[in-house]
Amino acid sequence: MLAREVVEELVQVLGRENVLTEQEDLLTYAYDATAALKHQKPDVVVSPISTEQVAEVVKIAQRHQVPIYPRGSGTNLSGGTVPIQGGIVLSMLNLNKILEFDQDNLTATVQPGVIIQTLNDEAAKHGLIYPPDPGTVTTATMGGSVSECSGGLRGLKYGVTKHYIMGLTIVLANGKVIRWGGKTVKNVTGYDLVALFTGAEGTLGIITEMIVKLIPAPETRKSVLGVFDNLDKAGNAIAAIIRNKIIPATLEIMDNVTIQTVEHFVHAGLPLTAEAVLLCEVDGYKEVVERESVLVERILKEEGAVEVKVAKNDQERDLLWLARRSALPALAQKRPTTVLEDATVPRSKIPEMLKIVRKVADKYNLQIATFGHAGDGNLHPTILTDVRDEDEMKRVHLAVDEIFHGAIALGGTLSGEHGIGVAKMDFLSLEFGEAGVEALKALKEALDPNYMLNPGKIVRRD
Ligand SMILES: Cc1cc2nc3c(=O)[nH]c(=O)nc-3n(C[C@H](O)[C@H](O)[C@H](O)COP(=O)(O)OP(=O)(O)OC[C@H]3O[C@@H](n4cnc5c(N)ncnc54)[C@H](O)[C@@H]3O)c2cc1C
Repeated sequence: MLAREVVEELVQVLGRENVLTEQEDLLTYAYDATAALKHQKPDVVVSPISTEQVAEVVKIAQRHQVPIYPRGSGTNLSGGTVPIQGGIVLSMLNLNKILEFDQDNLTATVQPGVIIQTLNDEAAKHGLIYPPDPGTVTTATMGGSVSECSGGLRGLKYGVTKHYIMGLTIVLANGKVIRWGGKTVKNVTGYDLVALFTGAEGTLGIITEMIVKLIPAPETRKSVLGVFDNLDKAGNAIAAIIRNKIIPATLEIMDNVTIQTVEHFVHAGLPLTAEAVLLCEVDGYKEVVERESVLVERILKEEGAVEVKVAKNDQERDLLWLARRSALPALAQKRPTTVLEDATVPRSKIPEMLKIVRKVADKYNLQIATFGHAGDGNLHPTILTDVRDEDEMKRVHLAVDEIFHGAIALGGTLSGEHGIGVAKMDFLSLEFGEAGVEALKALKEALDPNYMLNPGKIVRRD
């Protein structure tokens, strides 16, 4: 329970309208998009409108030793925003301005509460794009996605969030404000704190402004759908496309369970009996797109696709991508709980990873749908379950454990894009060893010695 005095100090800095303490208001902040995690209400939710106000909130929290949990839209999938120790939730949604578009340097300067799609809509007016596009592009904030280092559908050709972050303004745990990086393409002055804070999940500092890189929008694009009656063949086709030196903007996979569920949800004309579909989009100059799409079509056939469809127009294309983007919401309708993983492997190991997921599903008698960013080696095995079924949940935990072990054994990683949060912190030593976990803790304790910022995430206090 927070002392009345703390709330009064927060009200003095932010105004009463930006400080929530009513129980029904707090409930909204007790959870995020992560399934099967314990909910926890904060004691207070505050909504600052400037870097200075964020710094003041941090100073109040330090004085009274109250934990702070930064929050954007709460769509993360690793429990990153759940205030597990109560305290202050710092909602960044009111810091929502695009401050500048710089067409000479191809950058935008934005506040953390800006929604990714809003930035992209604005960029489009200038013939530019901000490529990172998680499935939640229309709801997730820039601050949240930088803090998770979100990936998304265009990672294969364009990379992920960290490749587009050039400068950050950060409020440190001691309330001091630092600015790192900027608009220069090159910058090797000091340690690379921009890289360190990107993907730090709000555990090292609070981002209040960011300079992002924009790139020219591709002239055109073409989508190709490959239908497979065999999951292995689909897996092999992914490597074959890349081996042929085509780097599609997007190369996604959906297995049979996903196809069936999505088709009933959006009616995109997906083949219900297919074992898997690959959805590939090439983009760029018209001539290149024509050449590459023909090549992709040929490779898919050579690799055993039973059918290959090329979207004839934007309407057909949009429907295919709607189907892919609907995978998780559609699957979420099948059972009460969807445990979505993002174990990631080198893309050449995709066929092996698909086999591991299948074996695990059989072994633990679970329904697991797999879809994901196959070209990045980033699969999303999604366990359809019910958190109220204790016996099944035990099997779910064992299955997740085995999927993580499988990915690491193939030279992969625990998380390609969803972060560690609370959900995966117990597995970190599997990937880094104890010495690696100690190094993470040393960083945390150097920047946040009292574990005030998003405590209980990524690393645990001894
Ligand atoms: C249906 C669905 C599809 C998704 N698809 C993808 C996908 O394709 N690719 C992908 O990478 N992710 C995906 N995600 C995960 C999620 O949407 C992204 O991680 C998203 O970028 C998070 O943004 P947010 O605003 O919701 O952040 P939040 O969930 O609010 O916060 C995320 C983390 O950042 C911290 N944080 C928030 N703001 C700040 C700040 N200003 N300073 C410091 N720390 C901060 C929080 O404490 C938390 O740890 C998906 C999620 C769902 C539910």
